Amino acid sequence: MNLKGKVALVTGSTSGIGLGIAQMLAQDGAAVLLNGFGEAAEIEKLRADIAKKYGVRVACNGADISKPGEVNAMVEQAHEELGSLDILVNNAGVQFTSPVQDFPDKEWDRVIAINLCGSFYATRAAIPGMKAREWGRIINIASAHGLVASAEKSAYVAAKHGVVGLTKVTALELANDGITVNAICPGWVLTPLVQKQIDARAKAEGKTPEAMRDQLLSEKQAMVKFTTPEQIGALAVFLCSDGAATITGAPLSIDGGWVAQ
Ligand code: NAD
Repeated sequence: MNLKGKVALVTGSTSGIGLGIAQMLAQDGAAVLLNGFGEAAEIEKLRADIAKKYGVRVACNGADISKPGEVNAMVEQAHEELGSLDILVNNAGVQFTSPVQDFPDKEWDRVIAINLCGSFYATRAAIPGMKAREWGRIINIASAHGLVASAEKSAYVAAKHGVVGLTKVTALELANDGITVNAICPGWVLTPLVQKQIDARAKAEGKTPEAMRDQLLSEKQAMVKFTTPEQIGALAVFLCSDGAATITGAPLSIDGGWVAQ
């Protein structure tokens, strides 16, 4: 329970990787502010289950991360309802695939606004409180696509490279304030975001979803294996520990050997 007394906000934590991270931080004793979209009753059940299982305070906020006013209000809620904001995990993200020449304006703007601008808005709002307490952890969930590219993912790859850049600049600015800022760069994680891509490609190529999963993995990773949300959560917990106090500005791969090739 090393994170007892700390408060964490995980954006996009009603599903997938964010939910895994929120659970691992709660398991280590942090109070958690969940954020994301979904059915109100399902989100309330997630909130109550995490609070009960780990014996920590858990609150919810449905802010749209691409709207700075809503993000500021969410950070205020962390302070008012849970007492502070010590750990910020910028995780909310969306995908859209298309060749560059056909990429719709609306989808470009949406992917950049949620994946990149949202991380900036939340980081900016979280810094003053962290500085005042002389301790903070900002963890940006980038991607292997923050380091290398894939065809048909121009907005996502641009946003994730941007997140890695934002991570480095913020790390430099906060280096002597007790605040570390790092990016986690996952390879394939089997979440709704990836399942949609598997289903679309399986349909287009006339394959079963199972065959498509293995193809997707082996096209990019040396390991034909998904990383789990809990494994990403475990890395986030490590980044919050004293052992990681001088790791800052680093893009950390957890990708089955994707970017080693
Ligand atoms: P997911 O679709 O399972 O979850 C996305 C979460 O973000 C949900 O809780 C959703 O409600 C929330 N969200 C979406 N738009 C939002 C908005 N405007 N404001 C607030 N919340 C919003 O996706 P995931 O696979 O868990 O992805 C989480 C993060 O991990 C993303 O940033 C993604 O780019 C990154 N990532 C995923 C993989 C992967 O293989 N799944 C790999 C590398 C990086």
